[in-house]
Amino acid sequence: MNDASRTPPIIECPFLQSDEKDGVDHLVHLAAEICDAPMAALALVENRRILWRSGVGISGGESAFCLQALAHNSPWTVKDARQEARFRQHAWVTGEPHVRSFIGTPLAAFSGGSEGVLCIWDTRSRSFSEREMRAVVQIGHALTAHLDLMSHTAALETRLIRSGEDEALLQDQINWINNYGRDLEVRAARLEAINARLEALAKLDGMTGLKNHRAFQERLETEFQRASRYNMPLSLLLLDVDHFKSFNDTYGHLAGDEVLKVLAHVLQESARGLDFVARYGGEEFVMILPHADYLGAVGIGQRMREGIEAASWPHRPITASVGVSTLTRAMERPSDMIAHADRALYASKAGGRNRVTHARDLREV
Ligand code: GH3
Ligand code: MG
Ligand code: MG
Repeated sequence: MNDASRTPPIIECPFLQSDEKDGVDHLVHLAAEICDAPMAALALVENRRILWRSGVGISGGESAFCLQALAHNSPWTVKDARQEARFRQHAWVTGEPHVRSFIGTPLAAFSGGSEGVLCIWDTRSRSFSEREMRAVVQIGHALTAHLDLMSHTAALETRLIRSGEDEALLQDQINWINNYGRDLEVRAARLEAINARLEALAKLDGMTGLKNHRAFQERLETEFQRASRYNMPLSLLLLDVDHFKSFNDTYGHLAGDEVLKVLAHVLQESARGLDFVARYGGEEFVMILPHADYLGAVGIGQRMREGIEAASWPHRPITASVGVSTLTRAMERPSDMIAHADRALYASKAGGRNRVTHARDLREV
């Protein structure tokens, strides 16, 4: 595909709004989530018209970025739109929503004869990782399969309506439907498998391979409800690398990234089967400890702190401070546990770092 071989669409249609979310909406949403971007949409190109479908974070599309992506065979990205002559004056760049970066991937033409582009815009200037590019391509495949399925189903309905009036065609149609049913099952199973892989990807932190913040929030909600209902112990650890800014400043950001990867490994290896380890964000990690009471959680916190201190670090020793909280009757929601652990972590920092503090031991002011 290239610019010359394509007649540019001339009409841009308003957003197709639908109250019911379908699989296509879900996949577009997933694309935005995996790329950690605020805006995404699917553009369908039919009869020289762009039809916008399934938007996240926007109520209308724009054609300049979308058409550029359509003219490529693989994911196409913009790092900083302000640095590119063709986008510098674009209304979405000079004004709201202040787009800076973009990734778009064309969809293979599906059986309805349309083409499409999955578009993702971000307000930060940034590049997209290999992992994000691969995920966007996968989602593109899933979208193609999904749209294919929808268009086949529509064709099937049309054939059924026609055949209803002609008895002679009936057996032929039944055979056709049976064959097609099998084909649909295979396609649906494939789509489901892709969806499951993408869902799992959306819950992982790309750098450390640990579960990400979103996955942590979901799990904490579940564990909080379970522990509250059955009156079981539940604790939370928040860990923050000590003086990490100065490490980055001295040895560089890449060396810092390596520290975070090793630290993630240490935590994951030391965790018990039931414990849930996640990257909370930046140089902060979190562990959900089901069945751990005050003493158990402080013990695990110490074990983690010692494990980090004892690991072999290439440049200089690395330590982390830990804040612990344990579920009490006074806590009404999961965020209460986080707030308590955060206060305890702050006390560990203030007390000299490389230490563990439980929220219960804080002097109330
Ligand atoms: P403290 O002991 O009080 O926690 O000091 P600190 O320097 O660790 O804390 P501060 O919040 O000042 O700095 C956190 C640093 O973590 C700054 C930021 O650049 C770094 N950081 C956050 N995320 C990443 C990352 O993904 N990679 C790298 N290399 N550094 C990160
Ligand atoms: Mg921090
Ligand atoms: Mg820190």
